[in-house]
Amino acid sequence: MKIIMLGAPGAGKGTQAKQISAKYSIPHISTGDIFRANIKNGTELGKKAKTYMDQGALVPDELTCDLVMDRIQQDDCKNGFVLDGFPRTIPQAEALDEALKKVNQSMDYAIDVDVPDENIVKRMGGRRACLSCGATYHIQFNPTKVEGVCDACGSKTVLRDDDKPETVKKRLTVYHDQTQPLINFYDNKGILKTVDGTQDLNKVFEDIVAILGE
Ligand code: ADP
Ligand code: ADP
Ligand code: ZN
Repeated sequence: MKIIMLGAPGAGKGTQAKQISAKYSIPHISTGDIFRANIKNGTELGKKAKTYMDQGALVPDELTCDLVMDRIQQDDCKNGFVLDGFPRTIPQAEALDEALKKVNQSMDYAIDVDVPDENIVKRMGGRRACLSCGATYHIQFNPTKVEGVCDACGSKTVLRDDDKPETVKKRLTVYHDQTQPLINFYDNKGILKTVDGTQDLNKVFEDIVAILGE
């Protein structure tokens, strides 16, 4: 099963992708997590990506596409994968299509987690991220057991630099300009499914399971 998560920053793509990954035993591939890991390890890619991420801009396609194409060709992706945060532009979606076409494959589902902008700004201020393992929490809607400590790995959780309100607003503009057109793109391919992302996170997952099957 090959799945794309669509939706605004903070819509809950990552939260749902992790649950999909666990239930259907397919890898969760988050370009944001990959960039953050590179920043943490001080790689060249990380240094380049950071300048864009800090401004709430997209990392250029040429730094992003090859990375994902390499990842989805790895062995653990044989039975599918869930893409979270990729594609984010039409050229990225076309590059993905091309790469899959070469091996006679195509994506199965594009799930749009639909949340209006008003809810997003509120949500992001409460997001806390673990930069060690990629887990995400919310101080109100999905808190850690011990405040400020990741349930999964025990590292410190933080407010991401790009989750400050000014940057969130910029990211929303970028989303509407560059990423939202993908909704039509995948609708035209007949694989778009929409879920109401304003619901409780467990209910959102139930709706996704209803789409993907038990
Ligand atoms: P969120 O989960 O809030 O949408 P991500 O972790 O997916 O955020 O992405 C954080 C930042 O990483 C983005 O604002 C962007 O700068 C960069 N990024 C992630 N994925 C992509 C991509 N596919 N193309 C370009 N930039 C990306
Ligand atoms: P994305 O990957 O789309 O940027 P996340 O999965 O990181 O979004 O979720 C953004 C924030 O909102 C996180 O703090 C997360 O815990 C919280 N969250 C996710 N889904 C819901 C939901 N259905 N209701 C309330 N908060 C949610
Ligand atoms: Zn962690």
